[in-house]
Amino acid sequence: MQEENDVEFQRGLLTRKMEAGEDVVIQTDKAAVLRNVILPKAQYHFVVLPKEDIANVTALTRDHLQLLDHMMELANQTIEQQKHLPSSKFLVGFKMESFMNRLNMHVISNDFCSDTMRRIQHWNTFNTDLFITYQAVYALLKVKGSIEPLSPDTAEKLLTTRPFHCNQCRFITGNFNKFKEHLQIHWQRQENERINKMNMLQLKQSFGNMNINGNFKNDGSRQNVGHRSENHIVENKQQFNSKQERQELHVTSPVGTNLTNPRPYKKWYNKKKQNSQMPEVKPTTESAKKI
Ligand SMILES: [Zn+2]
Repeated sequence: MQEENDVEFQRGLLTRKMEAGEDVVIQTDKAAVLRNVILPKAQYHFVVLPKEDIANVTALTRDHLQLLDHMMELANQTIEQQKHLPSSKFLVGFKMESFMNRLNMHVISNDFCSDTMRRIQHWNTFNTDLFITYQAVYALLKVKGSIEPLSPDTAEKLLTTRPFHCNQCRFITGNFNKFKEHLQIHWQRQENERINKMNMLQLKQSFGNMNINGNFKNDGSRQNVGHRSENHIVENKQQFNSKQERQELHVTSPVGTNLTNPRPYKKWYNKKKQNSQMPEVKPTTESAKKI
């Protein structure tokens, strides 16, 4: 009986998931895209599996070029679905030394920030010659008709390659923990920029929904902004009776005119008074009596 710690059982995981329709993002009669939820090595990590049982990348021949085209089409569709990340941030390709017993094409974001990025092998399988891009596989098959496997010695050396070169700047270190922290900084900065851009866009959209008097229509559309006669302004002033409406008008008026203050001169007068530039008006005897 196969158990979960059985290597062969683990190697068949992707095939079983595809057959069960588990974590499947897109599926056709020729291939499926699965979200890598168990061992993702980056913030966005998917695998494209062909329905045809192909052991690994070295088993591909020229006959598979059409299938590869289809797999790439699915990869592109998946990348397009990730609205928060541009396509330039994704790598698409194959591991030369795949653990799984079925060909799988990785679609992975280049941040490599993940809790499961624990060992140097995890980084090296995607960032040395242990990883072969889709374009390279396609070109080699077309020209040579096959992909040569790596020798065990070469594969072993590549797996333990040091130091680590950042894929986003010139940073180099032999310390893997330091390296992971460095990658995390890149990711955090990228996320902060994205969130700031999104906030700015929302702010711009909000301003786009305002008319000249800073009023929002209930349906979100603009009111007539072209007509700015005195009568029109008076009409608009009368529309805003509640305190909230008046505040909104004051804060958002794009022309900077405080239309809500019925006596703007009073503010000016008080300011002048504070600066002692205006003589204080003392109440007359008559008015003092009234107080
Ligand atoms: Zn860097």
